[in-house]
Amino acid sequence: MLNTKTAHELIDLLNKGQITQNEILSDLKSQIKKTEPKIKAYAHAPNNSEPVNKDSFLKGIPIAIKDNICTKEALTTCSSHILDGFIPPYDATVIERLKEKGAVIFGKTNMDEFAFGSSCETSFYGPTRNPWDLKRVPGGSSGGSAAAVAADEAIWALGSDTGGSIRQPAALCGIVGLKPTYGRVSRYGLIAFASSLDQIGPITKDVYDAALLLNIIAGHDERDSTSVDIKADDYLSCLKKDVKGLKIALPKEYFIKGLDKDVEAAIKEAKNKLEKLGATFKEVSLPHTKYAVAVYYILATAEASSNLARFDGVQYGLRCTGAKDANPMITMYKQTRGKGFGSEAKRRIILGTYVLSSGYYDAYYLRALKVRSLIKKDFDDVFKEFDCVLTPTSPTAAFKIGERLDDPLSMYLSDIYTISANLAGIPAISLPCGLTKDKLPIGLQILSGPFKEENLFRAAYAFEQNTDWHKIKPDIKV
Ligand code: GLN
Repeated sequence: MLNTKTAHELIDLLNKGQITQNEILSDLKSQIKKTEPKIKAYAHAPNNSEPVNKDSFLKGIPIAIKDNICTKEALTTCSSHILDGFIPPYDATVIERLKEKGAVIFGKTNMDEFAFGSSCETSFYGPTRNPWDLKRVPGGSSGGSAAAVAADEAIWALGSDTGGSIRQPAALCGIVGLKPTYGRVSRYGLIAFASSLDQIGPITKDVYDAALLLNIIAGHDERDSTSVDIKADDYLSCLKKDVKGLKIALPKEYFIKGLDKDVEAAIKEAKNKLEKLGATFKEVSLPHTKYAVAVYYILATAEASSNLARFDGVQYGLRCTGAKDANPMITMYKQTRGKGFGSEAKRRIILGTYVLSSGYYDAYYLRALKVRSLIKKDFDDVFKEFDCVLTPTSPTAAFKIGERLDDPLSMYLSDIYTISANLAGIPAISLPCGLTKDKLPIGLQILSGPFKEENLFRAAYAFEQNTDWHKIKPDIKV
């Protein structure tokens, strides 16, 4: 069962000549045959016939890609009706880098439409299900990537994270998810949701694979003007550094009403474990935390409403035309956007257009920008004294399909612990740290200062090496 292995284990076996790439593919395909009809992790099923360079570093190890990252000559639809049939003429920079290292692109994973959501239920293709409990959501928006990796339907995957979309589904599916520092990974070829918040990152079975994948995709790219020209670390060598002496802050604003008791207990236990391993802890305050969700939903919707203006039936995907009338172009815009976007996308476009409108710009958008800088300053102050911040990834474990769909506010609150990292532009990782009484995975989130991914890896790898949570697999009821 090679599909259950991590990428680094497979590289080892391939290098020793003990397995072939075809054996990996065939084990993945038989797993997909068994579990995919129930889980529905893929928006566009794997269909690879790419030639493999056997001398390359990755030797044809397959990787699943979220459906909002452009892949040349392969469907990329953001799981939206409006991008029906869209096939990009180019690869995103991250895809180019993966191919250069000998990876094979293995299917496009399901997601909330345009990455708007925390449950993977707003996809045009229907919901993805959590491998740990098929009645529950896998989290979102990268729910397909997380479910595919957790169900061993993929070795590893890429997701994107604007407000938690890598970390929250990783937490809910019991695997590892990393949002790099803003600017660390090129966004060229990532279909934009909120350009000042979006980052691409790894979704993997363990911390080692997250470091390995970040090594491949990180680095400066001239085609993304927000990509930063600072040399990326060798993240694998960061793993070997000890956790002794690492100073970790516990923000009191994250341990509040609404935090599930089982989640809280698991985070406390993780803290004790890291303390035993030599890290030191102190409670701190991030006083502007309470504004994060409001600020995020103003800025993210404002940026989304501008970014989505390009989908109008002219250049990409779906085109709906009406009966012949006096103004066929306007009719085409209206019909295409009316039929092409789902209701959450429409809600965000309307909200975003409202907060940017001339009468309200100062009251909402400008004000939110100011509070964003206060949230960032809270973190800057903490990182003057500390290496990391430790929090839960999500206030609860996976919730039931349908439970929050009709209540946008309760859905938005799912991201209360992940949004601040995007607003501050800092890196954060989620890794498994326990199970609830109902046997649902719990995620531990570790954050660090900008371009200090090293500290995340030190803490996360030490925790993982001294616990077994990442080894527990779901018993998929198919
Ligand atoms: N759940 C958040 C939202 O709906 C974050 C999504 C994301 O990170 N793409 O906006």
